[in-house]
Amino acid sequence: MALDPKASEMLSKGWYGERLSPRDCEYLLTFGDHSSEANLANSLANRLLHRACTETGQICANIETVTGPCPGNCRFCEYAEGTSSEMFYEMGDSELAGICEGLGGFSDVRSIRLTTCAYADIETVCRQVGIAKDRAKRGTRIYVDTGDLDLNECRMLKDAGAYGAVHAPRIREGGDTEITKEVRLATISNLRSAGLQVITGVEPIGPEHENEEIVETFFSTLEMKCAGCEVNPREPVPGTELNKYGKLKPSRLTQIRSVLTLASSWYVPPVRTACPGTYVSGSNIAVVKVDKGNYARQIEAARRKLFNSGYDRLLKVDDSTVELNLMYLRQTGSV
Ligand code: SF4
Repeated sequence: MALDPKASEMLSKGWYGERLSPRDCEYLLTFGDHSSEANLANSLANRLLHRACTETGQICANIETVTGPCPGNCRFCEYAEGTSSEMFYEMGDSELAGICEGLGGFSDVRSIRLTTCAYADIETVCRQVGIAKDRAKRGTRIYVDTGDLDLNECRMLKDAGAYGAVHAPRIREGGDTEITKEVRLATISNLRSAGLQVITGVEPIGPEHENEEIVETFFSTLEMKCAGCEVNPREPVPGTELNKYGKLKPSRLTQIRSVLTLASSWYVPPVRTACPGTYVSGSNIAVVKVDKGNYARQIEAARRKLFNSGYDRLLKVDDSTVELNLMYLRQTGSV
C-alpha cells in the first residue's frame, strides 16, 4: 500500500533536520503503530540515532537514595503517600559510597543518577551528590532527579558537584499530580540558570493519553535548552489510581519516540558531549535502576543489552570509547 503523501513529506522533513510542528507530530501519531508510516518513522529515527551516537552506547546507573512515602501523591507513583505502604528510606552514606566505587570498576558507567522522592531535604541530596562525586570513578557525571527546586537549591547542587538533573513536566500535570506544569518548568529554568545540564522528558505515558497531550508535553520544554529528553511509559503499580489503564504497548512507545526524534532532529543541545545520540534518547543509553546488592550483575546486563542492540562501542567516563565486542563482554564478566 502506498504511503500517505502528507506523512511521507513530514517524515522527510524530520530526516533532513527541518522542524516539524506539533500538528505534524499529532498527525504522524494518528497512524497505527504497525502501519507503513510508523515503520518508516521508526527506521528513520533509528538511523538518526545510530548516526548521532556513532554506534556508541552508554550506561547510566540510577540509584534511589531517598524514597517515600511522598506527599506529592502522584496517581501513578509507587511512593505516593495515599497509596503506598512504603516506609521512609534514606540510603546510608557508606552504602552509597560503596556502590559508587563499585560502579567504577571498568570505567564504563558514564553517569550516575541519584533519584529521590519530591520532598527530600536539599542538604541531604547535596551531601549524597558530594559522596557520589568523590567516590565514583573520576569523570563520572552525577545527575540528580529530585522534586522542584528554587534557584538557590539548584546552585547548591551545582556547588556540591552535580553535572546535571533530570526534570520534566508530567503528562496531565496538575490533574494526575498535585504539582503544576508552571512549577516544573520554573525548576528547569532554575537548573539551567545554575549551570546544570537538564535531561527533560515526556512521561509517564499510558495507553489512555491522547496524541495532543503527548505532543504538547514534548513541545513545552523543547525551547528550554535542555541537553536531552527521555520518552518513557508509565509502569503499572498495583494500588495506584492509574493502574487500571495498564501499560503502553512497546510498539506504540517506539512510534512516539520516533516521531519526537524526527521532530527535534534540527535541535542543537547547549552542550557538546561525546557520542551524544539524538535529543530524544533511545536504545543508545541503558539506564539501569541499581539494586543495592546486585548492581554488578545489572551493569553486566546493560553491557549485553547495548551489544545485543548492535552498538559497536561503549562510552567511558573520560569520553574515550572501548570496542563493545565479545572479548570486552568476557573481560568484564558480562558473559
Ligand atoms: S512527586 Fe515524585 S516521588 Fe512524589 S508521588 Fe509524585 S512521582 Fe512519586
